[in-house]
Amino acid sequence: MLATVLKYLEEKHVCPHCDKELTLCHAPPIHVGDGLGWGSEYLFICLNDDCPLFVNGWKHVEANYCHVGSYRYMEIPNSNESYNMMVAGKGAFTGSVVDIEAMKRQNKRYQQEKKAVAQLDTCLEEKNLEPVLFLLLDDHAHIKHRKRAAELLEPLGDLGCIEPLRNHDFRDSNLEQTVNLAISRILATNYLKECPFCFELIKVRATVCKHCRKDLP
Ligand SMILES: [Zn+2]
Ligand SMILES: [Zn+2]
Repeated sequence: MLATVLKYLEEKHVCPHCDKELTLCHAPPIHVGDGLGWGSEYLFICLNDDCPLFVNGWKHVEANYCHVGSYRYMEIPNSNESYNMMVAGKGAFTGSVVDIEAMKRQNKRYQQEKKAVAQLDTCLEEKNLEPVLFLLLDDHAHIKHRKRAAELLEPLGDLGCIEPLRNHDFRDSNLEQTVNLAISRILATNYLKECPFCFELIKVRATVCKHCRKDLP
């Protein structure tokens, strides 16, 4: 998807009505005319508000269709098809302009997720907590992968997982329960507990917290 967009952004498409460069936009889900898809995820659209097609379109639409609207010139990438698309107002496509920086960020995050998922296969042998934590702390990662990561917490038994996970605000309460259960099992295996006052790890049998010096119940 990103490669496609980068390729499109190198192409120059110019509006035949105003000679201004067309803007790459995400295609709306439905073809306005016949209800079919555009056959493309992206469209090149003239968003120039001074474009003669757009400026003169209001009168034309009102005279012919008796409602408020105008036209934007658009081209479908990788085809010779172009349309004068009817729009209800100035803002019709401004929200769907392709944000290349956002797409690059999304792509980077997706690649990191993919890498972490692949690392889950070997993280137990390698005692590698990193991919497990990455997936659990990333609320955008697929829930299927995050659940699998949560199942690996106990077998990994790495105490280093506790603080970052305790500090994370889980949006999925089922996942949070699984994580909390794993943490309590890891603590039990290590004869540890969390101080109810300062949340540092202390021995199960401690009667005074060695970190905050408070008497424990
Ligand atoms: Zn134009
Ligand atoms: Zn304490």
